[in-house]
Amino acid sequence: MAEAFHKRFPFLRVNWMRQRKKGAWMLGEPMLPMSGAPHPNDLLAIMPAALGDHLLKSGLEIMPSGGMAGVSSRTVGNAIGLSTLGAHDFFHEIGHFIWANELTPRQKKEYAKLVGAHNIRRLFEEKPNDRHNDTEEHFARNVQNVLILRKLERVKPGPAKDLLAFMKKIGVIDEEHARSFYANAGAPFTFQADSEDRIRAADGENGVFYREAKKVRQLIEERQRLRAAEERMRAH
Ligand SMILES: [Zn+2]
Repeated sequence: MAEAFHKRFPFLRVNWMRQRKKGAWMLGEPMLPMSGAPHPNDLLAIMPAALGDHLLKSGLEIMPSGGMAGVSSRTVGNAIGLSTLGAHDFFHEIGHFIWANELTPRQKKEYAKLVGAHNIRRLFEEKPNDRHNDTEEHFARNVQNVLILRKLERVKPGPAKDLLAFMKKIGVIDEEHARSFYANAGAPFTFQADSEDRIRAADGENGVFYREAKKVRQLIEERQRLRAAEERMRAH
């Protein structure tokens, strides 16, 4: 899948190579080799096959964003602009792409209800609709969380199960990825962010960096090897 992705979205690799050359600093961490931008191939190996196929067939575009150091990635229409900071929010932006281009109003309502948000725009009724009170941002963070096998963010307490079923229904994960999630995220599989401070923290920690991506890739590939071995055993 990685080759098909690089062919369809060449900027993914270009951006990473550019970061490497710069050896710049990002969010206070050295860029490379170990703690900076995730390698795009690690992210593509983590991505469930169902999501990869879905995105390759979608109208998604990936292009440079800004050009100034410190400019964040963003998604406008069907285009993800990857920032000069690297691909640490690539999965997050895929979340924005799906929300803006694919989810129906009914599905957005379903998501808001599942996580305990006030409605499809706001998490809390009484607060202004800024970045930390935004249902779409919440969804984008959770797409990143589920893909990187982290606990899922909720406004009100509740199970992870229905949220995972929703992510499966809209093509973000498949059954195999759901199993990896349960094997890695750790019970209770969700965390509650129900105040501005907690949401600010969840937002600040949403980025995925090299080390974590590498670790999750290894875990997923190990599970794939085990499953393939089991299938060979069964075939004999
Ligand atoms: Zn966002």
